[in-house]
Order: sequence, then C-alpha cells, then structure tokens
Amino acid sequence: MDDTVFCYHCHARHSRDEMRQVVSKTGKRWRCVKSIEAAKKDVKAREEFGRQVTAMNKSEAQAKIKHLLNAERATKSR
Ligand SMILES: [Zn+2]
Repeated sequence: MDDTVFCYHCHARHSRDEMRQVVSKTGKRWRCVKSIEAAKKDVKAREEFGRQVTAMNKSEAQAKIKHLLNAERATKSR
C-alpha cells in the first residue's frame, strides 16, 4: 500500500500522517504540515516587521512634527 501523498507545495511525496488536505481555488489539495507551519511563521514575521515599520514611521513623523513646532516657536519669539 502506498502510504505517501503528493505535496503540491513541495512537489514531493510525504508520508500521509504529515499531510493535511487544504481547499484552494482549484479544489482540494494535499499539503504537508511543515510547509503550512512555515507559511504561518512567514506571515507572523511579516506582520511583526510591518508593526515595527509602522511604529518607526510614527515616531519619525512625531519627531518631525515636534521639530517643526519648535522651529515655528523659535521664529515667532524672535
Ligand atoms: Zn510538503
């Protein structure tokens, strides 16, 4: 008996207990748990990166605003 399933993600065969059936636009497909977990980690890493960039942009923008306000104040007091 063939105990392996073709993984559309790796284009390789894995043992059946490593496989999960996923539904895609083209129908049901088999994909291994490893590739699913790896994709999840990728998404998390990307989200984390996005958050960091957003936080950085915010603090940069705030610094710029502060700088502009200070400059304005400085010219007015003169
Ligand atoms: Zn795989």
